[in-house]
Amino acid sequence: LAARADDREVVVIGGGQAGLAASYFLRRAGVDFAVLDAASAPGGAWRHGWDSLRLFSPARYSPLPGWWMPEQPGEEFPTAGHVADYLAAYERRYALPVLRPVRVRQLRGGAERLAVDTDRGTWRPRAVISATGTRGAPHRPHHPGLERFTGRVLHSADYRSPAEFRGQRVLVIGGGNSAAQILAELSAVADTTWATRRPPRFMPDDVDGRVLFDLATARHAARRAGLPDTGGPAALGDIVVVPPVRAARERGALRAEPMPERFTERGAVWSDGSERPFDAVLQATGFRPDLPHLAPLLRPGADGRITTEGTRSLQDPRVHLLGYGDWTGWASATVVGAARTAKTAVAEVTALLREDRAQTR
Ligand code: FAD
Repeated sequence: LAARADDREVVVIGGGQAGLAASYFLRRAGVDFAVLDAASAPGGAWRHGWDSLRLFSPARYSPLPGWWMPEQPGEEFPTAGHVADYLAAYERRYALPVLRPVRVRQLRGGAERLAVDTDRGTWRPRAVISATGTRGAPHRPHHPGLERFTGRVLHSADYRSPAEFRGQRVLVIGGGNSAAQILAELSAVADTTWATRRPPRFMPDDVDGRVLFDLATARHAARRAGLPDTGGPAALGDIVVVPPVRAARERGALRAEPMPERFTERGAVWSDGSERPFDAVLQATGFRPDLPHLAPLLRPGADGRITTEGTRSLQDPRVHLLGYGDWTGWASATVVGAARTAKTAVAEVTALLREDRAQTR
């Protein structure tokens, strides 16, 4: 891509599932737009998960608008690679204008148009939809002494497969799905210890993505109807007991311990004074919204979020945030949620463009 200045009406930042869902509705509304994606290939975060990562639910529960994800032959729960291939095929099917690799560096305001500065020049749209996900912002909480630990320290974002840890002593930190799923396979080849801040909460064994979908939908409907909050999937627990997690739990590999008090050069020390050596510490401690490119126009608050109403920024209504989590819309960090949220976001953006045009006439 040559450096360029571009005046398309809307720029979507990020070409993962959320960016593509927005693109579908922008295309349908006849908007002149471009998607700028920093990745060199399609698929968003699904290209980067660990080798065994799968969807929690069958393909038909994760549709993007217009064309649903095809079943994966022989697999009830599609692999991450299948989801990434679906996103790539989706882009081609709708000939979506995704430009890559283009990394957005910053966003500036202006009376009529925004300025989106990238490593390939500046775009000047009337509105921006930011859909950069969380993968670029792994959360690495501070643990006393971890900087002195001489073994390997990695985040779940960097984990690919258990093979490289064969025979090692590995401490896995974190009480969510990533930790449980990684431990399930790691514990078969390595000597694992699991540390969590509070006892892990397993969902009932018969809960999978289908049930989560129904619970999230019911919560959404209750909120819209002004009824009491049902708590959604979180009310059931944090960890979905997918088959490998169930198998690991049954062989006793998923017993969690409290967090160590501090780390040493060789391992960790617990509050009762016991000390254990480790070869590696794996932080499965989640992700935060990846938002630095929205500065200087928008800056996240202390909670790492931009204040929004739905997807619309309260600081500048020309900017929408899509994906990231429930705070930008119903289940918006899932495939199906991204699709629903995108529809509303694009309806607001097109209304804004119409107003804009009416004023300049
Ligand atoms: P991403 O897929 O991360 O896409 C963002 C894109 O933006 C990337 O291509 C990135 O390169 C680009 N980008 C970032 N910064 C910039 C920039 N400054 N300029 C330009 N481009 C930029 N969801 C489900 O629906 N079902 C599941 O079963 C499920 N399981 C999951 C399991 C795990 C372990 C995890 C971590 C997530 C899971 N999810 C699941 C959640 C969710 O579907 C993903 O997190 C999803 O990839 C988020 O999509 P996105 O489009 O918002 O962001």
